[in-house]
Amino acid sequence: MVDRVSKEVRSRMMAQVRSRDTAPEMAVRRLLHASGLRFRLHRKDLPGNPDIVLPRHRIAVFVHGCFWHGHDCPRGKRPASNAKFWSAKIDRNVARDQSARKALAALDWTSVTIWQCDLMQSTVDLIDRLRKPERPSP
Ligand SMILES: [Zn+2]
Repeated sequence: MVDRVSKEVRSRMMAQVRSRDTAPEMAVRRLLHASGLRFRLHRKDLPGNPDIVLPRHRIAVFVHGCFWHGHDCPRGKRPASNAKFWSAKIDRNVARDQSARKALAALDWTSVTIWQCDLMQSTVDLIDRLRKPERPSP
């Protein structure tokens, strides 16, 4: 794939992608509100600083932008230009996410990752995943 935009324009585009990443989080919050599940935002005392937590169920929710967190989906496609730079950045995020999930599991918290692209799917499925997340086998 030939990149037609300059480095400068590309990083401006990426910055826009990043700032839009908060919109999915808002969508998840609206969903939780509608479903009556009690939740809290940004618990800084938990590993990985989950975006949303359901304290009663010890569920930590991460709302991830597909690009920044390296999702295996069309939105998570890595740019062809400056590939090394972006890959290193995204790989770091993926590694951080993974160790956060491990650390949470050690504290008996269940992590649920909601991807940006999940929010375009059925909201019923999403609520279901939050109500009955797959617990890691002991
Ligand atoms: Zn995705």
